[in-house]
Amino acid sequence: MFDARATIFAKSSGSGRAGVSVFRISGPRAGEALEAFCGKRGEPRKAHLRSIRLQDGSLLDQGLTLWFPGPDSFTGEDVAELQLHGSPAVERALMDALVAFGLQPAAAGEFTMRAFEAGKLDLTQAEALADLLDAETEAQRRQALGQLGGRLSERAGEWRRLLLTALAAIEAGVDFPDEEDVPAAIETAAIQPLIEMLADMRQALGKAAGARTVREGLTVAISGPPNVGKSSLLNRIAGEERAIVSDRAGTTRDVLEIRADIGGQLVTLLDTAGLREDTEDEIEREGMRRARRAVAQADIRILVWDGEGQMPERGSADLLLLNKADLRNGGPPEGWTGLSVRTGEGWENFLMRLRNLVLRSAGIGDLTRERHVALVEYVVRELEPALSGHLPPELLGEEIRVVLRKLDELTGQLAPDEVLGEIFSSFCIGK
Ligand code: GDP
Repeated sequence: MFDARATIFAKSSGSGRAGVSVFRISGPRAGEALEAFCGKRGEPRKAHLRSIRLQDGSLLDQGLTLWFPGPDSFTGEDVAELQLHGSPAVERALMDALVAFGLQPAAAGEFTMRAFEAGKLDLTQAEALADLLDAETEAQRRQALGQLGGRLSERAGEWRRLLLTALAAIEAGVDFPDEEDVPAAIETAAIQPLIEMLADMRQALGKAAGARTVREGLTVAISGPPNVGKSSLLNRIAGEERAIVSDRAGTTRDVLEIRADIGGQLVTLLDTAGLREDTEDEIEREGMRRARRAVAQADIRILVWDGEGQMPERGSADLLLLNKADLRNGGPPEGWTGLSVRTGEGWENFLMRLRNLVLRSAGIGDLTRERHVALVEYVVRELEPALSGHLPPELLGEEIRVVLRKLDELTGQLAPDEVLGEIFSSFCIGK
């Protein structure tokens, strides 16, 4: 998908004005470019303060240069890094000069793709790098860092080892079909590792929902009759918990939505107060259909009431809040948590309950993406009946070869191009 021989460059630091902006150059001409613009390559992996000059000798900027000769670099290729002043004018001048020098602007994720191709990281680690760059919460950071460190790769390696052990036992048995106790020997030598692997896979799958919730965040819908204090509740949470501000595509109209870090987890709170029926506007109606769907699919539902009128139906609510405690004498009815958003009475108790609900549905795990879950589920689905159905050894061996190939997709040893394309294109340019 990428031209592996071209020398590519990109700004690897963020956008906007900054003290420093970091440019990365990777490929066979990286060293030559460093010499052309900075005079020397310099000592490997040491920072040097240099004047960066254009080809006509005029000064572009002063900055730090770093030289990472391949293969001991991020991409495995020759890599040069320039740390310049972070102004748009400096950046533009450098990029123009690098293009004029014959280097190619990098595509999104191309540095990581090259690192993957050079075997510097496997596919799960490349995914983890993308997750780490996107991490907004403590749990996301820890989960991504674990995966980047090879937690899933190692687990997949262990599954692979068990499959190969089983396969070797079967092949040994198939080679000596006449010996008497071969079936029993195969039973222990081949079936045992498979049983062990399936148990570990089931354990990983059991944690997958929590892991995906850590990565993707979870939604909390706040519903209840009008005027009970839903918006006030949301505002107070946003004011006191760390509200996460980030632009996200497809913002739902007519549902007040805030993203917050609750108990170290990414939580999107939806206030359904905006759900009105009386609109003729087609776009607005579509917005509301989506909003209702979002609420229906919320991971946690909070029902708010203020004790006035009919008690609302509990439905599938996880937490019942009786607001405006300051206007009442006596405690809330059975099952309800009393609270006054206005005075703060009961606030800590409410937050504790909310945190517990959040922590119950999120938990760090190894299968962080749908892709991982689908592959592991496939292996379990294929092998489980094969084990209980007492397949002839030849067929079981064939089955193991099939799932081994599937498992190699997990770490990318055998991943189809579409899978790779999808993963690497989700990166930003410069990564
Ligand atoms: P929503 O329609 O459910 O979103 O309710 P709002 O958040 O707009 O609140 C409705 C009214 O109740 C506003 O006038 C709030 O100031 C008031 N309110 C909210 N929380 C409390 C509370 O704890 N005590 C009292 N006394 N009033 C509250």
